[in-house]
Amino acid sequence: MSFSSLGLLPALQQALHELGYRQPTPIQTQAIPAILAGRDLLASAATGSGKTAAFALPLLQRLAGQHERAALVLVPTRELAEQVATACQAYARHLDLACVAVYGGVPLAGQIEALNAGCDLLVATPGRLLDLLANEILDLSAIDHVVLDEADRMLALGFARELAAIAAALPERCQRLLFSATFPPATRRLADDWLYEAQEISATPRNRPAPKIKQWAVPVDKKRKPGLLLFMLRDRGWRQALVFVKSRKGADELVAYLRGKEIAADALHGERDQEERRQVLAAFRERRIDLLVATDVAARGLDIDELPLVINFDLPVAAEDYVHRIGRTGRAGAAGIAVSLVCADEAAQLAGIERLLQKRLSREEEPGFEPRHQLPPASPAPSTTPHSAIKKAIHGRPASPAKNPSQPKTARSGSSPRNGKPTGAAHSGGGHKRGR
Ligand code: AMP
Repeated sequence: MSFSSLGLLPALQQALHELGYRQPTPIQTQAIPAILAGRDLLASAATGSGKTAAFALPLLQRLAGQHERAALVLVPTRELAEQVATACQAYARHLDLACVAVYGGVPLAGQIEALNAGCDLLVATPGRLLDLLANEILDLSAIDHVVLDEADRMLALGFARELAAIAAALPERCQRLLFSATFPPATRRLADDWLYEAQEISATPRNRPAPKIKQWAVPVDKKRKPGLLLFMLRDRGWRQALVFVKSRKGADELVAYLRGKEIAADALHGERDQEERRQVLAAFRERRIDLLVATDVAARGLDIDELPLVINFDLPVAAEDYVHRIGRTGRAGAAGIAVSLVCADEAAQLAGIERLLQKRLSREEEPGFEPRHQLPPASPAPSTTPHSAIKKAIHGRPASPAKNPSQPKTARSGSSPRNGKPTGAAHSGGGHKRGR
């Protein structure tokens, strides 16, 4: 399979060639034709599957030469917003299309300026988008395509209300795409609300990480985790690892410990401001630091290429987070390692993860660190979210018009047909619209 056989424009193919993309990933092979055909889409795809290009390429193609139309990509975090916008700009480098990211935590002024210079594809976090709508800097009437990227994450971060408010501001005719790594019940309900006769695609078996990731658990007493981590780093010569901890305080303490042992480590957590986070990430990418110690919230949306190793210093409370965490390694088919240091207190969390994965992680004790408090043996139970549940959410409802959580059900089938002309520009305010 090649990008040309997917019907992509030569300008996009050229950009992909320059970026070194030789062939589409499985999610791209499935998503690109469906999106080009105008279908709503429900995609099960984890970070690392190539999901960004899977929606960005066909959307850019549909926007090419259509400057009165625009696309909106909603993402959970500012890091992901920047990352998606950067990827879109790279794909669009031979097209006359502008991609802009807007997200909270930075002043509005720069983002308003970027929007006023023209925007065809807008990548936004929900809160900042609502700010811009409330201030009448943007309206969404020209949006023809909307993507919910990492939908499960957006809900986990508490964006359900914001998403409903945005749905109310979107034109009925929009093509809607939902990408999610996992499908807990709230995500299935969101898909049911947002999508209309969606095509359902899945790149990897749901809730399972890419197969090339080697994962195992190391049973250890809680107090000995820092020593064990240090031992494993030195013993294996591990470099460039993302280490997950459960709290900001834990991240700072672990970084202090590691630095005391002359390991170049830094922390990434929600209490560091945007500039500090940017600097830490840059230092990690440039290999000036070896270990990035992160909380789940801070790590969302991180795109660090060729990350060989993820270490779960603490197990996540939500089993889905385990899948997200280890999705940071083994990207685009590369081999990766995900190792979890597990103490007896975390037995229930480990059992939850194994239920979700539907497999038992092997336990491999490290000599000299054998735990005094043993992990109880656990056997995986069947998945609680069978694939058919998602199918039912999408296909199993009556053949009535599309749903939108905050709009009258008749709106979509009434005077504004799905492919009708937009009535306005992507953003208004100050009289300066799309700048094109
Ligand atoms: P994503 O899942 O969108 O975060 O993408 C993960 C990584 O894979 C990013 O670094 C992309 O640049 C890269 N990537 C996406 N599609 C391809 C492809 N077809 N060939 C090679 N690399 C790709």
